[in-house]
Amino acid sequence: MNVYDPTQLAATALIDRVKRNLVNLKMPRALEILDVTLRGIERGETTALEAIDQLLGEEITLRENRRIRMALVMARLSAIKTLAGFDFAFQPSLGRNRVMALAELQFIDRAEAVHFIGPPGTGKSHLSLALGVEAVKAGKSVYFGSLADIVAALAKAERDGTLRERIRYFCRFALLIVDEIGYLAVIPGGGNLFFQRVNARYEKGAMILTSNRGFAEWGEIFGDSVVATALLDRLLHHAVVFQIEGSSYRLRAHADLLPEHIRAKAALNPAPVPATLKRRGRPPKNGGADHLAG
Ligand code: ADP
Ligand code: MG
Repeated sequence: MNVYDPTQLAATALIDRVKRNLVNLKMPRALEILDVTLRGIERGETTALEAIDQLLGEEITLRENRRIRMALVMARLSAIKTLAGFDFAFQPSLGRNRVMALAELQFIDRAEAVHFIGPPGTGKSHLSLALGVEAVKAGKSVYFGSLADIVAALAKAERDGTLRERIRYFCRFALLIVDEIGYLAVIPGGGNLFFQRVNARYEKGAMILTSNRGFAEWGEIFGDSVVATALLDRLLHHAVVFQIEGSSYRLRAHADLLPEHIRAKAALNPAPVPATLKRRGRPPKNGGADHLAG
């Protein structure tokens, strides 16, 4: 380009102004691709309208990715898992269509509880993380934690005299994911704290819960059968239950090397909902018994 050509000089000044404006408007991606986009127009490869569309589109994509990254950190969705990365053929008991239906996220609007129950390594955390990621992408607020972490946070808040605030804080999330129910025994009083939190969210916010143990064992996990019954009363009303009966994905390459008793253990005994824990009163909003069938 001839820098002494007055039209070129005007164009250069104009481009500088556009760049300054992009800086002021905090549009780094548009700024970054401006020169390339302008060259595309000069060569007749891009129309002016397409160029505007490209600059705005790229900027929005950058912002959206940044928002998602931040929201994933806020949600404590540490390992990023996806539904696309889940091999449903390996876990046929899950029912791909039922899981994919959850990705539509209507269960969040309906404030339902989704349970993934199955032996270690069968994808419970993977699926709950992946659904959390889908919810974050859709702009929903999500919180992911293990039961032990959540109970520890509640116990600390109780000691600090801030339990009510802490429970209110947890209520703000559209989706709460409680991972690893049953791996560790809950600390004394923890069942009660967790119940307070679940009760505060009941019919107001959605939850995903994962456990390696059946509902019948919740009394043992929470160290209190009364609390466990009250918890299940809330958590099985408007609930979707996935009972995974397959084997561990982690151990798939080594299954032949495992002793028979460990291999057998990996197939969880399906734990039916005890009759006493079934909720009385008005029927579930959406379908009841079939809905509950794993
Ligand atoms: P769980 O929570 O049931 O113990 P995870 O979800 O942590 O199991 O799964 C263990 C590991 O195996 C993770 O890295 C997970 O991504 C992977 N995994 C489990 N099931 C599958 C599957 N069906 N397809 C792909 N990866 C899987
Ligand atoms: Mg897990």
